[in-house]
Amino acid sequence: MQTESKRETPIPLLVDLHTDALYEHIRGRKDITRRSDKGHLDIPRMREGGVNGQVFAVWISPTELKPGEYCDFALRGADAFDAVCAQSEGGVVPVRTPDEFRDVIAAGRIAAILGVEGGHALEGRLENLDRLYERGVRVLTLTWCNSNEFGDSSSDENKPHGGLSPLGRRAVRRANELGMVIDVSHSADRTVFDILDAGMSPVIASHSGVRARRDFNRNLTDEQIRAIAANGGVMGIVFLPYFLREPEEQASIEDVLNCIDHICQLVGPDHAALGSDFDGFEGALPGLEDVTRIGNIGEGLRRRGFAAGDIAKILGLNFLRVWDAVTSRAA
Ligand SMILES: [Zn+2]
Repeated sequence: MQTESKRETPIPLLVDLHTDALYEHIRGRKDITRRSDKGHLDIPRMREGGVNGQVFAVWISPTELKPGEYCDFALRGADAFDAVCAQSEGGVVPVRTPDEFRDVIAAGRIAAILGVEGGHALEGRLENLDRLYERGVRVLTLTWCNSNEFGDSSSDENKPHGGLSPLGRRAVRRANELGMVIDVSHSADRTVFDILDAGMSPVIASHSGVRARRDFNRNLTDEQIRAIAANGGVMGIVFLPYFLREPEEQASIEDVLNCIDHICQLVGPDHAALGSDFDGFEGALPGLEDVTRIGNIGEGLRRRGFAAGDIAKILGLNFLRVWDAVTSRAA
């Protein structure tokens, strides 16, 4: 669909579009540089699972932080991200461009992309978008469970803006100019369509489910899936049991595979991806208990008869295509 796809990637990609592990690390609740059985993800377990591309989100908690502290926290998160990568002694390398991403993976290392989850990190000021970009942030999840100055959240019953605000429109366009990827996960239904309308570049939904399979506001409707695909974007399927099945106790890796299959049936194999949300939720999904099990998705897709080329797209090439497009369309 997109023609911006650049160099070949010699090593198969295994890319995850969203983890909150860095937030837990910043808060001192875990040390992701060391192996532990706590939560879902740390760097030694990423290596074991074969992940070679990871978006690390700095979540901006609107309850643990106050307005005025959000942007500073995002910048501190960037410092922590660099420190974690430095401690890994070359194992995990921060990347800011798709070409750096390719080089790091070709060298057998893990390429780490910095994201910010919650546009309230900008404190309502577009110049903070530039600040975060300069500090290395390449993915911005426009809302979290709270609506903010830019738009309505899927979890907010009030929907104060009726979608994207005029400032949100400008934020999306500025992000596009900079070459920052906009993430529509957590955005209200109307906000998603407004973002697609406002922007010039493809978007990601970094960690969402499929609403046709589980009726929940954090999941993508078929109309949204078609619109994001028409925009050239990609949707990372979340591993969070409650988003996948009700009762959630019955959820398993098969539900993740069903969501991927649903997207592929609806819009083809160019728009599905993985978006674990590891360490962003309690509990564990059977078959994908932690990052060491993430290879089970490729196996599951093979077992279901997916073509090898399509599996490679879902496991990473689709995301890389989007990032290439966002970068090459930046001003
Ligand atoms: Zn989230």
